[in-house]
Amino acid sequence: MQSENTPKIDHSPMPEVDELEPHYPFVCSVCGHEQNARPSIFMRMGINSGHGSCMSCGTFLHLEIAPDNTHIISKPHDEWLRSFGIEPMKAGDE
Ligand SMILES: [Zn+2]
Repeated sequence: MQSENTPKIDHSPMPEVDELEPHYPFVCSVCGHEQNARPSIFMRMGINSGHGSCMSCGTFLHLEIAPDNTHIISKPHDEWLRSFGIEPMKAGDE
């Protein structure tokens, strides 16, 4: 059931769930460190959204599988939230 009050978040198109690889290479969009990530539980359900921390600089990243199914695209999680008009909580606010 769809509520009209549910914020609509569009995710990039992703490959068929059956075609997902066990690991994808990705490059941290902040420091450029190359590493690997596994598809998230959401990706396995067909929603192209995951997250993880960079092993090098520790930035919390939003992860999406590229439409060509060869790699993961990363961007800082805060930046991803702002693209939906959501202001991330700042460290030190509490
Ligand atoms: Zn990094």
